[in-house]
Amino acid sequence: MKQIYCEECSCSIDSKDDLIIASRFFIPVAYHRACYAEVLKGLKTFFVDNVPINGAAATLTSFFSVIIWALFMLTSMEYKILWTILFLTLPIYRLLAWYLFERHVPDEKSEEFINKM
Ligand SMILES: [Zn+2]
Repeated sequence: MKQIYCEECSCSIDSKDDLIIASRFFIPVAYHRACYAEVLKGLKTFFVDNVPINGAAATLTSFFSVIIWALFMLTSMEYKILWTILFLTLPIYRLLAWYLFERHVPDEKSEEFINKM
């Protein structure tokens, strides 16, 4: 399993609960929860987006974007490329964040489960 390191303190991130993925100039970067809070307080907040990509809001928005995109694809004959770019940017970005970071960081629940066995 690939080790994920915090962009701020360079220590490894060992739990999904502690992982925050934010975008910096449209590039997803990983932070500890506490380090992300520090980044938002400091001057770097101008460069780092204040909505985590792996948060519930982004996941929910991605889900509904895909549904709306599918409806547009079924009904609209024109501007299909425009609707695709408009509605699928966030879901693809969310998927990229999962692929690059989230899948490598163990879930705390699964670790507890392994310890019980
Ligand atoms: Zn950190």
